[in-house]
Amino acid sequence: MSAREREQRSRLAQLIHGAGLLRGTLAVRERVCGKANCKCARGEEKHVSLYLVASYEGRVRQLFIPKDWEPQVRRWVQQYQEARKLLEEVSLLYWDKVSKRQE
Ligand SMILES: [Zn+2]
Repeated sequence: MSAREREQRSRLAQLIHGAGLLRGTLAVRERVCGKANCKCARGEEKHVSLYLVASYEGRVRQLFIPKDWEPQVRRWVQQYQEARKLLEEVSLLYWDKVSKRQE
């Protein structure tokens, strides 16, 4: 096993053992609240909210992210992406091994 592969696996193991992992994309949505005298109704400043969007079993799901959950959710999403990237890199090494017929 190369030093690089060892490093990738060690970081991957770390993420899988202890880190929050959350698949999805964060999307900022602007909306109007419906109150007639709100500034959003006058087209000035709309209400901004954050959602996590992910497809699950072929259907797109959205989850509202409360403001105080945002840093944690961002961290979990980022960690999922990192784990996925590492997994993909290890997989590519094994793709190469098979294509070059070397163990
Ligand atoms: Zn409003």
